[in-house]
Formats: sequence, C-alpha cells, structure tokens
Amino acid sequence: MRVAAGIFQIYVTLVGRVSMRRVNIRTMQKLISGLSQFQKSDYQHKQSLFAELAHGQSPHTLFITCSDSRIDPNLITRSDPGDIFVLRNAGNLIPRKGQASGEAATIEYAIKALKVQDIVVCGHSGCGAMNAVLQAGSCDELPAVAAWLQNTDGLTQRTLQRNGEQSPERMLELVIQENVRMQLENLEAMRCVADALSSDQVQLHGWAYDIGSGNVEMLDREQDAFVPLSEATFGEIDGSTSGYA
Ligand SMILES: [Zn+2]
Repeated sequence: MRVAAGIFQIYVTLVGRVSMRRVNIRTMQKLISGLSQFQKSDYQHKQSLFAELAHGQSPHTLFITCSDSRIDPNLITRSDPGDIFVLRNAGNLIPRKGQASGEAATIEYAIKALKVQDIVVCGHSGCGAMNAVLQAGSCDELPAVAAWLQNTDGLTQRTLQRNGEQSPERMLELVIQENVRMQLENLEAMRCVADALSSDQVQLHGWAYDIGSGNVEMLDREQDAFVPLSEATFGEIDGSTSGYA
C-alpha cells in the first residue's frame, strides 16, 4: 500500500498544481489504490494476454449497453480484455439512420474494421433513461438528456400498442424491452449493418439484464418475446439448434 500512497501523493500534488478544483480525495484514493492493485495482481496474471493486446485488438462482439454504473459488460459475460468492443450511452440508444454520431462511427468501425461477428444490445432493469421516457417533464432541468432521448420518439406508444396499459413498474420493464427492439431496428437501418447481415457476417441479439438477480432475458424473434437464457433459441452453435440471431 506504500506504493499506492506514494502514487496518490504525486497525483494530489500534480492536481493541486494544475487545477484549483476540489478533488474528492476519498474517491480518487480508491481509484488509484485499485489501479495499483490491478498492476500488481490482475495485470501480472494476464501478462501474456496484455502483451498480445498491445499489438492490436480482434474483438468478436460489439456490446451496446447503458452507461449505468451497475452494468459491467465484461463481468456479466466473463469476457477478457480484447473480447468485446463496447459502446455505452444513456439508454443504450442508436441514433436513427442518417445522423452523424459517435455511435454510428463506433458501429461502423466495429463491423467494417474489426469484423465483429455479433452485436448485442443490452438494456437493463431500473434504467433511468427509460424511466425518463415515461415521466413527462422529468428532464426539464436536463436539456441535453431531453434532446438525447428524442432518439426514443414513439417508444411509449409502441410499448402501449404491444402490451396495453400496465402498472408503472411493469410499464418500465416493458419499455426497457421495447427499447431494445427499437434499437435493433435502428441498427438494421444502418447501411453497414444491413450489408453485414446480408452477407452473414454478423448476428444481432437483444438482451434485458436484471440487476437484482443477475439474470438476462433474450429476445427470441421466433417467439417475438424476451425469454430466459435457458429457453432462448439461437442460431447454430456447437451443433445444437439455438437463437435469435
Ligand atoms: Zn440505463
């Protein structure tokens, strides 16, 4: 811990010189202590992997999910660094066709340069962005968020058409699922995704992750429903019949 403390002292000194901004010392100490532990432990355990990754990446999957701090794509899929290319934003949204955006650039790069084979859109329980979609006026003090959520125009109506009136709690769950469907459609509307689909380069997957249980329900297009992992059907995997691709 002496090394971490030393690093932290250097950090505080530098930050103090560069900026008069208040530093949340306890938070930064935790982050820097964690970094030190990573370097001494985790990095050492996977040194050969990191040495390989230093020369480039070849992720198999583009994982699109919310910025929510409670989701860790690598953790829930037990993926290593280099396995998944991650795109995150509030509400796991993909702006509609024709709009220049960081999302479009990231997706294009993943498909055309990295040649990913799968794209997962992963919504999650208790999503604040989806809650805001349902609560008119909740973003009055958050103009950037309100503008961003315009990418979900029509989502509430779609959810009502599919499911009818529901309790507020159930409505949030259903909006989260319907948003995954909508974002998959937005993906399919992108030229690079459409081309990759038509040549069987990629498959699309819709997930809904429940933070409280750790369970994931997957969109099964044959059933047009979100189903538990154990019930989901997939494309051909290991010779068995399986999934919404
Ligand atoms: Zn969220």
